[in-house]
Amino acid sequence: MQELPELDIYRAMLAERYAGAQVTAITIHHQGMDEAAKTELSGQVVGTTVWFVERRAQHLVFHLDNGKRLLVNIPYDAYAYCGTGDKPQDAKASVTISFGERYVTFYGLQGEDIKLMSVKGLEEYMKGRGIDPLDKRLTLTRFVERFAKKRSTLKTALMDEGLISGIGPVYADEIAFAAKIRPDAKLQSLDAGAWERLYQAMGSVLRDAISHGGAGEIPLFEGDLLTGGFAERFQVYKREGQACARCGGTVKKLTAGNRKAFACTECQEISE
Ligand SMILES: [Zn+2]
Repeated sequence: MQELPELDIYRAMLAERYAGAQVTAITIHHQGMDEAAKTELSGQVVGTTVWFVERRAQHLVFHLDNGKRLLVNIPYDAYAYCGTGDKPQDAKASVTISFGERYVTFYGLQGEDIKLMSVKGLEEYMKGRGIDPLDKRLTLTRFVERFAKKRSTLKTALMDEGLISGIGPVYADEIAFAAKIRPDAKLQSLDAGAWERLYQAMGSVLRDAISHGGAGEIPLFEGDLLTGGFAERFQVYKREGQACARCGGTVKKLTAGNRKAFACTECQEISE
């Protein structure tokens, strides 16, 4: 799974490894991009130096010294692996970016998941997407304004990419638990206190997850001890039948909208 915290950890670790490094090759293994497009992309990227790596919603953005941005969309089931020396020959490898002997390979990308953009093009591209939950401009007032228009359950709204980016099924449940609101609660039922708890919970759960390594299942490199550290800290996600750490109740599996959700129905009220 790749939600915001996992991508943020990728961003930090990829920046640490490759900022200042020169791209010596980019190999696109996957189908869905024609040969001419691959050659074009390679021609513009090879020889450039990565200045830094940024995360924008579900994307990693490599800032290149030719002023362009190499955008890599990371789908929910995609992952990355960094290595040195022989590159993976795995059939599932989608894209490999080489920096001399070192490389990062992305798995599970589709045709449109990697592209080179101008700064302006990137801004245009990001415009229609949901705001980043950790964006400083997302104040409580703005958060409520965005969400209050929706007539769905809490979980459905948190996972709505047009509304807010980077929250998937895992963190939606964890945020709802931290906010003491059931994931199947209707948004219209939330009062001011519940909105504030939800807003605070969203920031604190995501930041906490980032600081503990997120919950990614696959290490980014050999010896990576950070990735996945947050999985053991889940309060409700996939903890059905276990005791709630807050009230001693039992974590249950529910349906929220058309999705499964995990919650403690004893201490997660619909609203106050
Ligand atoms: Zn509980």
